Amino acid sequence: MKTEILKPTKENINIAAGSIRKGELVGMPTETVYGLAANALNPDSVKNIYSVKGRPSNNPLIVHIADFNELDKICYINDDAIKLAKAFWPGPLTILQYKKDIIPDAVTGSLNTVAIRMPSNKIARDLISMSGLPIAAPSANKSGRPSPTLPEHVYKDFNGLIPYIIDGGQCEIGLESTVINVASKPYTVLRPGKISIEEIRQILPDVMLSNNILHEPSPDTVPESPGMMYKHYAPNAKLILVSGDRFNVAKKINELYNKSLIENSRTKILCFDENAYLYPDKSFIKIGSSKHHEELAHKLFALLRSLDEMGVETVYSEVADLGGIGLAIMNRMIRAAAFNIIDVDKIK
Ligand code: AMP
Ligand code: MG
Repeated sequence: MKTEILKPTKENINIAAGSIRKGELVGMPTETVYGLAANALNPDSVKNIYSVKGRPSNNPLIVHIADFNELDKICYINDDAIKLAKAFWPGPLTILQYKKDIIPDAVTGSLNTVAIRMPSNKIARDLISMSGLPIAAPSANKSGRPSPTLPEHVYKDFNGLIPYIIDGGQCEIGLESTVINVASKPYTVLRPGKISIEEIRQILPDVMLSNNILHEPSPDTVPESPGMMYKHYAPNAKLILVSGDRFNVAKKINELYNKSLIENSRTKILCFDENAYLYPDKSFIKIGSSKHHEELAHKLFALLRSLDEMGVETVYSEVADLGGIGLAIMNRMIRAAAFNIIDVDKIK
């Protein structure tokens, strides 16, 4: 199969919608990351998503809708979910509710809840509306790889496996949606995203944060969300995060960098713009200001992918503050680093 990247004209979106109706998979831009879109009501199409991604079949998919009226068809919607949907949709919030039978088990990994989102990206909404279907779409990357924020990323991972990718340019946010379970109490944020827990608490004050956002679930517990268990977002290079006071961090990273250079020359440092001067004569990449994490969110996944293209083997990185979207950045980075983080303030 030849994969075509389509400009987002009405005509082309209609062609892609027809392809989804036929049971095929399409690369779909959204404001978070690119999705691999399929008819959520067709178990064969949904199974095909898992197969081309290499995704474990018990890691459920998000169902995307473009119209509030769809909700009643796919889930038993409760009042608190309606409050959240009214406050944050269309937008980067995914809401878990008990599912109706129309949603195949393949979508939910046989769980009795379904994850639902109404994206704000206009191309995504047009594609969903024109297909006339709820759309199951995980991030359009091979399982374990950094999520795609450009059409070329989708092409790299799925060239020859899907007929179309719609070119929506670079994703506005660059990190996946916030996922919240409001099917049963205690209501819990399972994955942080652009919409922060502080914003959610303005609507539902008692929402909690899952303990696994910055920690690996132990293998003997049942995770609140299957996705927490898997290796994620990882570049080929070994990524090591260093946290703590910025001067102690720089001292540690310089030390590790010098040691690692003796073993191999393909070492890089990721640092905030204002700290670059702390790494004289080193090979570093600036990741934006530490005061405005939006820029880092926007380019994080592309950056992780570009490290692979440069053939980098070891990366030492400064870390984001945990406020606002910083928590979402750290949730992704700590998984990309396979939980390999050194806290310099704790050593000594
Ligand atoms: P992705 O498709 O890559 O954006 O990942 C979707 C995330 O939502 C994964 O971490 C899933 O585990 C999670 N998810 C989807 N449906 C459910 C559900 N019914 N219960 C818990 N987590 C879910
Ligand atoms: Mg994903």
